[in-house]
Amino acid sequence: MPSENIRMPDSLWAAVTPPGPELPRLEGSAQADVVIIGAGFTGLSTALHLREAGVDVAIMEAAEPGWGASGRNNGQVIPTLTRPDPEDIVAKHRASGERFVALLRDCASTLFDVARRYQIQAEQEQAGWIQPVHSPGRIAIAERRVRQWSKVGAHVELLSRDQVAKMLGSDAWYGGFWNRTGGHVNPLALSRGLARAVLDQGGRIFARSPASRFERKNERWVVTTPHGEISGRALILATNAYTGEFERQLAPDIAREVMPVRSWQMATAPLSEAARKTIIPGRQAMSDTHGELYFARYDARNRLVTGGALVGTDANKLKSAVGARLQQLWPEIGEVKFDYVWNGYVGMTTDFLPRIHQLGPDAYGWAGCNGRAVALSIVIGQELAKAAQGVPAHDLALPFTKPLPYVAHGLLRRLAPLMLMVYRRRDAAEIPDGPSGPPQPEHFVAWASNLRNRWRTS
Ligand SMILES: Cc1cc2nc3c(=O)[nH]c(=O)nc-3n(C[C@H](O)[C@H](O)[C@H](O)COP(=O)(O)OP(=O)(O)OC[C@H]3O[C@@H](n4cnc5c(N)ncnc54)[C@H](O)[C@@H]3O)c2cc1C
Repeated sequence: MPSENIRMPDSLWAAVTPPGPELPRLEGSAQADVVIIGAGFTGLSTALHLREAGVDVAIMEAAEPGWGASGRNNGQVIPTLTRPDPEDIVAKHRASGERFVALLRDCASTLFDVARRYQIQAEQEQAGWIQPVHSPGRIAIAERRVRQWSKVGAHVELLSRDQVAKMLGSDAWYGGFWNRTGGHVNPLALSRGLARAVLDQGGRIFARSPASRFERKNERWVVTTPHGEISGRALILATNAYTGEFERQLAPDIAREVMPVRSWQMATAPLSEAARKTIIPGRQAMSDTHGELYFARYDARNRLVTGGALVGTDANKLKSAVGARLQQLWPEIGEVKFDYVWNGYVGMTTDFLPRIHQLGPDAYGWAGCNGRAVALSIVIGQELAKAAQGVPAHDLALPFTKPLPYVAHGLLRRLAPLMLMVYRRRDAAEIPDGPSGPPQPEHFVAWASNLRNRWRTS
């Protein structure tokens, strides 16, 4: 994709957010101590934390800061992963998993602290995050989460059906999980605010400068763009679900270890004062237990920002389905009009865990947000900044693994939207008995990918 004239998607966030800083393109050759590829939350947070430590840093961004997932997401600040809970993370990653759980526990507060420290105006509201459960049996999910997160000192509570009805203004749910440190932001404003903070702290950001490759030459990392070349002692790859978007061969194993699934976002017209008083009156961010996720949060103009998933790309189909859903949840909302509809890629992994890698000497990267990494990418950036300064792995909250590409990635990418049918079937049923239930399509994909990678490394 040519990167010269890439526009931001026509999102609510693009319409309401003041422009970001003017940025140069990389021309000719340059050096930095640390070179970062990608100016989303991960790259920007890494750069900011490096500048706090006085390290010379430069970011190469293919489009502009926030062009990827960071500028087009729902903006929910969520201090959990999508599915794995603390015990799953520790079972998989042991000591580094424990450190990662602590990082995750504090990630929402860290995001709001960073925004405060740099006086970033991102319409941020630390109103909390609620995960209501959509069937009686799924209260077990909320109970498990409360038990495990309480054990590690998180500010979480179990909500009864009545409490959820009062907090969300709907009796559609059967109780829920509540974390007071969460909330929501205008994610494009946060991206642009972080970019300004990086520049104010003396960092450099090059826009419209897609990296076509990175390689090791003379003990340094050299990143090539169409009009220049930059070398650094250390390298951070922060391209996440957009890793193959501009250059397929940039890091093919990382591009293929996540399934970029299109997630649709939509914003209603501002709600009436009367509707706003009963629909999520406390303005928390909300994402429930449906696989075909129900989620919503207010923006600063009292629009409900919500969305859904779709097989195909006909957004009109989604407008009527999501509109009907909102009316069912909150009849008092009246006629639903969507003023903005846009989409972006969520990088899904087979086990819903992020993948964090050492790519070589002083080179690191990660992928696999699973739709839950607005806050997580900020703290992963903080840890990647430490890694780039030579902090050893046993002092980092980063569970490193080897890249684990999907088997038949291209084919599965085309088929991924059909998973919606599987989710719908599962959503309509009560949760299965037993710890993991019957085998599911993603279990087979994970098993095949693991087998292929074991074979490749043996
Ligand atoms: C529609 C949507 C809704 C979401 N909602 C939520 C939510 O409500 N809450 C939540 O917690 N998470 C959510 N997420 C996930 C969250 O947005 C991401 O986890 C987070 O933004 C990832 O940030 P990042 O910096 O790692 O990646 P990105 O923001 O995607 O940044 C990667 C950057 O790399 C750049 N790039 C790619 N290739 C190159 C190259 N060759 N050279 C130079 N630059 C390159 C891209 O242009 C991009 O700017 C959502 C994601 C999407 C897509």
